[in-house]
Amino acid sequence: MKIYINGKFFDKSEAKISVMDHGFLYGDGIFEGIRLYNKRLFKLDEHLERLEYSAKSILLDLKWTRDQISTAVQKTCLVNQLSNAYIRLIITRGEGYLGLSPKGCKSPKLIIIASQIKLYSDKLYSKGLKIITVPTRRINSAALPPMVKSLNYLNNILAKIEAVHLGYEEAIMLNDQGCVAECTGDNIFIIHKGRLLTPLASAGALAGITRQAVIEIADSLNIPISETTLTRYDLWNAEECFLTGTAAEIIPVVEVDGREVGQGVPGKFTGKLRKAFKQYIAAGGTPLK
Ligand code: PMP
Repeated sequence: MKIYINGKFFDKSEAKISVMDHGFLYGDGIFEGIRLYNKRLFKLDEHLERLEYSAKSILLDLKWTRDQISTAVQKTCLVNQLSNAYIRLIITRGEGYLGLSPKGCKSPKLIIIASQIKLYSDKLYSKGLKIITVPTRRINSAALPPMVKSLNYLNNILAKIEAVHLGYEEAIMLNDQGCVAECTGDNIFIIHKGRLLTPLASAGALAGITRQAVIEIADSLNIPISETTLTRYDLWNAEECFLTGTAAEIIPVVEVDGREVGQGVPGKFTGKLRKAFKQYIAAGGTPLK
């Protein structure tokens, strides 16, 4: 595997950054997870736009234009001769001095790893996932906006650990108001009385690229959609539930907090959306060149 760091390719064992990089010392940096499907980069522009927003939010001066980053991503896929991949694009603050101030960090690192990912087994996609609310709350927007896809994932990791301790694969995270925000690495949707509902990004959710694609697909299928406040009560009484993310795509949920969702099997809207999502992927994307 060849890994891209600031314009050069390195073998995996040689791909290294300094221990003085603030990305390593403080989690000071940002990232994106992007899919390559059949030699096409899915929603590349949307990912790069979100990356730019994350950079601006943390006052990280991107040294590269969107075109330059796009070319670097494409090159990494081509060099590794990939047709399908999960691409991790990371920008660290760069090497600096000890101490939190990024002032001494003059040269951010752009790292691109093109690999594979499989979060859940095929069985879970057909039978559905059981999820549980955990005590760790999604971080308050006034502390660190969850819309920033930063290298600080400890908030989500704590929630994931709690879910795993309880014997579950994924956790529901509430915000500090007790409303549903998202899962640890995925957005959450429910179907209630024929409507598709998902928490607002302002409730503490990442503005997921897959989330947005699902909203567009649902709209094209004439399924009414609301981005709205959701509580655990809403999840408990939903007819269907599913999660979305670049890595997970769309995965059905059949149990929330020990309560069956609907009939306890993946629902028909979820099935419809999963099928349409596959077609949507096949129809779009930026071809490698
Ligand atoms: N929420 C969180 C916390 C995430 O890290 C992610 C991405 N893994 C998502 C939601 C889903 O976003 P996307 O569809 O853009 O991958």
